[in-house]
Amino acid sequence: MQGMMQDWPLLIHRVIDHAAIQHGAREVVTRSIEGPIHRTTYAEIRNRALKVAQRLAREGIRPGDRVATLAWNTARHLETWYGITGAGAVYHTINPRLFEEQIVYIANHAEDKLLFVDLTFVATIEKLQDRLPTITRFIVLTDAAHMPQTRLRGAVAYEDWLAEADGDFSWVALEETAAAGMCYTSGTTGNPKGVVYSHRSNVLHAMMCVTPDAFNLSVNDCVLPIVPLFHANSWSLAFSGPMSGAKMVMPGMKLDGASVYELLESEQVTVTAAVPTVWLMLLQHMEKTGLRLSSLKHVLIGGSACPRAMIDAFENQYGVSVAHAWGMTEMSPVGSISSIKPDYGALAHDALLDLKAKQGSAPFGVEMKITDDADNPLPWDGKTFGRLKVRGMAVASAYFRGEGGEILDADGFFDTGDVATIDPYGAMQITDRAKDVIKSGGEWISSIDIENLAVGHPDVAEAAVIGISHPKWDERPLLIIIPKEGRSPTRADILDFMQGKIAKWWMPDDVVFVDAIPHTATGKIQKMQLREQFGAYRLP
Ligand code: ADP
Repeated sequence: MQGMMQDWPLLIHRVIDHAAIQHGAREVVTRSIEGPIHRTTYAEIRNRALKVAQRLAREGIRPGDRVATLAWNTARHLETWYGITGAGAVYHTINPRLFEEQIVYIANHAEDKLLFVDLTFVATIEKLQDRLPTITRFIVLTDAAHMPQTRLRGAVAYEDWLAEADGDFSWVALEETAAAGMCYTSGTTGNPKGVVYSHRSNVLHAMMCVTPDAFNLSVNDCVLPIVPLFHANSWSLAFSGPMSGAKMVMPGMKLDGASVYELLESEQVTVTAAVPTVWLMLLQHMEKTGLRLSSLKHVLIGGSACPRAMIDAFENQYGVSVAHAWGMTEMSPVGSISSIKPDYGALAHDALLDLKAKQGSAPFGVEMKITDDADNPLPWDGKTFGRLKVRGMAVASAYFRGEGGEILDADGFFDTGDVATIDPYGAMQITDRAKDVIKSGGEWISSIDIENLAVGHPDVAEAAVIGISHPKWDERPLLIIIPKEGRSPTRADILDFMQGKIAKWWMPDDVVFVDAIPHTATGKIQKMQLREQFGAYRLP
């Protein structure tokens, strides 16, 4: 017997329709690339998205065609997404922090037909355009007054391009399983691989993210997605923001501590999301200036492990609750979120922080398991670690064009490449990326745990740990530190601070101080580059 409910495909245009109908006057505020603060509404974004879709159809864009964007978080960028998907096409966000070679590779691999590009990246794309033969036209996300002289093919100012449409357009009808968007993983090894989201997976994933134990978004919130649209759908906020009817604040290109602080306060932001390096800059800015936060309630931190000291600072110094989240591009991206279940009973300060520092539980829609190398399931005892595998409604089943071959195991689980423990109540903790774990005397040392501890030292701004080859132990940890401005801790200061807080055999064999630590295009510490940099290094 079949259910007898309506067939209402989960299509992305329904999200912006809902936002425009129910929350039409809610603001979307942007720090524009041109400079000034720009204000619009969900109703206006929907109107303009319809024009984008109409114009794309007129440019010959057909359902399934890929349309690329190379842009910061702005209202214009957001409306291009709804326009592209509303025309039945597929948005392909390109991360501008990728190497030029990678940008060329992925735009060609995706066979992008058009590119929406921010003013900031026009010069880069001018250099690359001869190697981007599939792109017929470049649309510069600005108005006539700010349009630069450019030799980009078919270049046009976005506002002029849009003005040629009247918005009299019906969203293209699609099946909910149709492709909606693409994002390439940054590919620390080999070429980047394309993850293809469907309308259905994006809508379901956004519904998962608005729930209380996930992002807890409501119509009364004001959300600042600092995590870029090009970093895995800004962790769903491009969809879960409009879905919840929250006011949105788009930060543009200025992501330093002072600029972020200014927006948090001037727009009275209640929820915000970014990788730890962004919060490092904000916390340092507030520490230096003595500033306080008057409206922020909830901060989402993920993309790499959130140090315990950062959770402590937000929660206990500034009164802002932290949700530590883990995920991947392949998971749309959210896979788990720290939450304090009643099962744990009353927890003292330190135990509570330890729990919040875990990557947390899977929300409905994500299943997890940890296994040994022979794929045998391992116990959820909070101690045994193994390969973390996932299955769910918004998890990739394959990469674009079948790159990488079969990526699911016999039960349909995807191997995340992470090593983790899961406790009896379901809270997962990442030990390390499988390739970053330090193998010492046949046992594993978590580089993340040592980094987390080191950044708890008051003189440490950022820390990275890599394995250095060792004649007896195979590998031993080397701790690399950027001191806070104006501070000069010594090796002994750092090691004394760590003494007794981790197992003796986990203690780093040496500490070195540097001015900079390299990061990937998504803000993660680039361990591979560090390993090369310290390739000739010999432990004392
Ligand atoms: P990339 O393309 O750089 O791999 P992803 O954002 O897809 O970008 O990276 C996913 C990986 O990032 C995860 O597999 C995990 O190793 C790491 N990661 C993400 N969030 C966290 C977190 N909260 N703690 C530890 N590691 C994390």
